[in-house]
Amino acid sequence: MATLYRKYRPQNFKEVVNQNHIKITLENEIKTGKTAHAYLFCGPRGVGKTTMARVIVKTINCLKRKAADSDPCNECEICKDITAGRSLDIIEMDAASHTGVENVRENIIASARVAPSRCKYKVFIIDEAHMLSISAFNALLKIIEEPPAYVMFILCTTEVHKVPTTIISRCQRFDFKRIGVNDIVKKLNYIIKNEGIKIDRSILESIARQSGGHMRDAESLLGQIVAIGGKEITQEEADLVIPRNDLNEVINFIDFLIKKDSASCIKLINKLMDEGMDLKMFLNDLIEILRKIMLTKINPALTQKFGLELGEGLEIKVGEISSGLNLEHLLVVIERFMKARNEIKGSFITQLPVELAAAELCMGVSAPRANPGNNEIRNSKLPARQALAGGEIRNNVPVVNQPIQASSPAGPTAISAANSGKVDQDAVLAKWSEVLIRIKQHNHSLSFILRVCKPIGISNNELTIAFKYKFHKNRVDERAIKDIIEKVLREVYGAPITISAIIDENLEIADNNMPPGNGAVQNDRQAKPAEDGKQENKGQDNLVDSLLKTFGGKVVDSK
Ligand SMILES: [Zn+2]
Repeated sequence: MATLYRKYRPQNFKEVVNQNHIKITLENEIKTGKTAHAYLFCGPRGVGKTTMARVIVKTINCLKRKAADSDPCNECEICKDITAGRSLDIIEMDAASHTGVENVRENIIASARVAPSRCKYKVFIIDEAHMLSISAFNALLKIIEEPPAYVMFILCTTEVHKVPTTIISRCQRFDFKRIGVNDIVKKLNYIIKNEGIKIDRSILESIARQSGGHMRDAESLLGQIVAIGGKEITQEEADLVIPRNDLNEVINFIDFLIKKDSASCIKLINKLMDEGMDLKMFLNDLIEILRKIMLTKINPALTQKFGLELGEGLEIKVGEISSGLNLEHLLVVIERFMKARNEIKGSFITQLPVELAAAELCMGVSAPRANPGNNEIRNSKLPARQALAGGEIRNNVPVVNQPIQASSPAGPTAISAANSGKVDQDAVLAKWSEVLIRIKQHNHSLSFILRVCKPIGISNNELTIAFKYKFHKNRVDERAIKDIIEKVLREVYGAPITISAIIDENLEIADNNMPPGNGAVQNDRQAKPAEDGKQENKGQDNLVDSLLKTFGGKVVDSK
């Protein structure tokens, strides 16, 4: 059973998992009879380089293949010989154990001079090609430059930077990619069905994650588990082979953090430690999942590029909890656990650094981030609890972060509270959040517009509000809209107040300029996790976001 890898080795292009970009090119070359004399396959180990090489070899030599086909028949004598590794015309060489120039001269150059015995092509597959010595490469170079028509070279390497450029430039190069968790699970599923083995998908997913994108490792792990467990595999049997890293528990832990339930965080850590969990691995998984959430929040496309694949079941769970975290909070959490991870080694109670981190984050007393950007500077004026516990901000009355005078000292209508109007600036700010809530009851989109404005002064009951963007100001200048705002102002402040909108391009709006938490606001935010994510990406998307919030609709193509 340990030879699942060999048994289920792909025998044609269709069976090769992933690497579609390479398959398509190679199949076309084979169909049109335009194969190269030398190929260079680069990429991590266990992603199918030598497998692909053997499929090519078989295909170009197959006796029954029709010209328009790109797959071998796997039935003719030649195919069978090659599959069984019996063909004398296919020379596989491990450069790691044959690094010297003599080897290249004897096994490659001398052999290449002799025509193939039965096959159409004599093929040299050189694995770990980067291990060849310089003189060996030089000898090889000569024959690659002018090979006999019946010779093909396929060089495979995990470290292409060690291959001389003179060799690389004479080969057709293909870069193999790591295989995704879902693709590996698909293949493992195929194997267990064929073998009549019962095994939970979650176990297959953890095998796939454990393999780090190497199909060969995944198949070998599955083989080891099957060797222990037979036809029905339990989690306990799987645990004997794959180190237990239950990502479900990691996700539970994050969930407790979001709920600020430090007791449950600490209980969970200690329970897992009692069960023999490797704390460092737990933290690695925790940080990886938090990173995945971070990438998704910054830009979902990044996750596909750099993020770890979790398998379907966990992806859904992670998606659910990620709506409870905002980006700034997330950065603090990741940094805090990275710190805890480094502290474990020197701690006489192993789990203490993690417990401290969890307790601090739940209480919101963690230190501010080391290199604060603009956002952090703004937030540093908030009480620590609000600045760090992003999830809580919407439950608090918004804090006006900058003194009015400081924000636009030269503003035409900057007025101090000492002014003689009936309603003064302090009174306006004190109840501004109530204004936002009431506006929302009248006009949903208007409340979004007012969230990105700033009341900057009031004189003789004329309130000046500043907008960063003209289209916001224009909207508020519409008579019907003005009427709504002035009606609400009268209700809230108990006095007739008119408004005057101005544009201030340097205006900065605190991101917590939200009405205090009411059910409607929270539901609104939770119902739109995608928009929530974008909103935190304050840079380039800010304008788009404002537009979307004000006028509705969605981004069809941002490029
Ligand atoms: Zn054949």
